[in-house]
Amino acid sequence: MSTSEVETREQPASPAARVSTPVDGVEVLGALSPSRAGDFMACPLLYRFRTIDKLPEPFSPDAVRGTLVHKVLEDLFDLPAVDRTPERARDLLVPTWDSLLEAEPPLAEMFGDDGPEVSSWLTSCREVLDRYFSLEDPRRLEPEERELYVEALLDSRLLLRGFVDRIDVSPDGRVRVVDYKTGRSPGPGFEAKALFQMKFYALVIWRTRGVVPAMLQLVYLGNAEILRYVPDEHDLLATERKVEALWRAIRRAEESGDWRPSPSRMCDWCAHQTLCPAFGGTPPPLPERPVPAVAQDPAGDVGTDEGVSGLP
Ligand code: SF4
Repeated sequence: MSTSEVETREQPASPAARVSTPVDGVEVLGALSPSRAGDFMACPLLYRFRTIDKLPEPFSPDAVRGTLVHKVLEDLFDLPAVDRTPERARDLLVPTWDSLLEAEPPLAEMFGDDGPEVSSWLTSCREVLDRYFSLEDPRRLEPEERELYVEALLDSRLLLRGFVDRIDVSPDGRVRVVDYKTGRSPGPGFEAKALFQMKFYALVIWRTRGVVPAMLQLVYLGNAEILRYVPDEHDLLATERKVEALWRAIRRAEESGDWRPSPSRMCDWCAHQTLCPAFGGTPPPLPERPVPAVAQDPAGDVGTDEGVSGLP
């Protein structure tokens, strides 16, 4: 979804309580999801605003489109294979939107004076959904899992966690990890950044299932492209070292209170420009008592890298 990021899943207070977890009885140093790791890599101050200050962010039509399309694609696989057609997917769109809106009425505030018209936004959602069928034929797929919460505790006692959009397992046991993106595929030179999230999930799956996924697949519905990558153990060990280094950098920032802004094109979409020194703003004082590290990547923020966290 995910990321990014709207999540439409039913979420318990802690996802760690929802599934069998090796965390029980072990003191966990902290928890990290690909979304929050991505925030810190992009801009430490953005990570602080989202994870330490927990500042609210307005719903974004692009992010909520991601949520809606993810939910329809998830539900599509509840239908008998023969019924997984573009027409049936379109039929699911409006009722799914109505359910999201009922659960989170403030979503309606996205529309109107400063936002798109609901009807044109729904049309854009339909176009994104239609594009999915040019990339895959869901009648030929039987996913093993959809919207699966995954977590793994590393030897360093850092807990990695997140939601995987889809896991396919072939008859001979090969695992394919699939993530849908409603945006466009990355340009040349940016694939590695996009694949970080997938390698993160692959590491979690390797640690929990003992199997290195045979394929990581990013499905870009914005421009109908698929990015595939075949990971190996060397890749995933490098990813493990990277997330552990990232966690150490986060802890150093926590201890020093030095959360630096890192201006980039991402600032154009940042909801916190008015508080950012790079734009002449002043961040609020840090919360007096730091939130315990494990809670800093809360359940509602785990998710895919698409959508807005905190929806039901
Ligand atoms: S405006 Fe840019 S530099 Fe400032 S917090 Fe947001 S992403 Fe970071």
